[in-house]
Amino acid sequence: MKHAMRWLSLILIAVALAACQRRDSAAPSIPETPVTRAADAATSPVGSLADLPTSSTLVHVPQASLKALGDPQFRRFRMMMVREQISSDGARDGREPIRDPRVLEAMRMVPRHEFVQSSIRRYAYIDQPLEIGYGQTISQPYIVALMTELLQPKAEDRILEIGTGSGYQAAVLALLVKEVYTIEIVEPLAKRAEETLRRLGYDNVHVMAGDGYRGWPDKAPFDGVIVTAAPERIPQPLVDQLKKGGWMVIPVGSRFSQELLVLRKVDKGVERVTVIPVRFVPMVGEVQKEEKKK
Ligand code: SAH
Repeated sequence: MKHAMRWLSLILIAVALAACQRRDSAAPSIPETPVTRAADAATSPVGSLADLPTSSTLVHVPQASLKALGDPQFRRFRMMMVREQISSDGARDGREPIRDPRVLEAMRMVPRHEFVQSSIRRYAYIDQPLEIGYGQTISQPYIVALMTELLQPKAEDRILEIGTGSGYQAAVLALLVKEVYTIEIVEPLAKRAEETLRRLGYDNVHVMAGDGYRGWPDKAPFDGVIVTAAPERIPQPLVDQLKKGGWMVIPVGSRFSQELLVLRKVDKGVERVTVIPVRFVPMVGEVQKEEKKK
């Protein structure tokens, strides 16, 4: 019954999202300086950690990330990001707001600016994906929040992510679940993400360089799987490594036309809901050989 209710609420979210037809555009248009408002300046303590949100609903917030979280300017941008792009206060152009308070709190408690190169740090909280090198991007904040909410993370979960990129999505999940296992095919990106995550104290994230197509068999099964690069078909090994009752969130499609899907593993196979059209970088490696064969 509980599962039926969850599934129903997921379908309702999917219908609402489909109505607004947003895309995670790959081409960021970057304003010269991020917009600030007087009201934000007035409510932001300068150099104080005192009114960071309490983290009672989060699994843990790494001590090492607190300094970066306390930076007053980025803190202001981060609160604005959640308020104006993600939560029900400001969801724009018909986008379905993210309501899960744990997800909103996690988005407030990860210093996104630490996951992009210093030259574009001041743009880290804008409503766009951003370049992270090697032709890859860090997803738009709203898409990170949406995928996290759709995964329905719980404190005891062990999650597999394919496509570490900057490590930002993994860091958001790290505040909400027990362990995150993440695989990145571009070795220098895997290395950089691992360094960033270590420096900021996300000790429950485990990074592996390699092709994520075959998942991480030694650590399987997982309570949830999140894929942040788009294959043309769902890789079967990832379904195999998902626990029964577990959720997978994955963009599927060609380079120009993809849908974000939510799957749930059930006794008789897999149930699926299409959520929203998206545009992610393609999943490369073994999955492309599979695609050519078909
Ligand atoms: N989650 C990331 C954004 C991901 S961009 C973040 O928070 O920053 C997608 C990433 O998937 C890219 O870094 C790309 O190199 C990686 N990728 C593509 N194919 C892959 C594969 N087969 N296995 C693992 N990673 C892959």
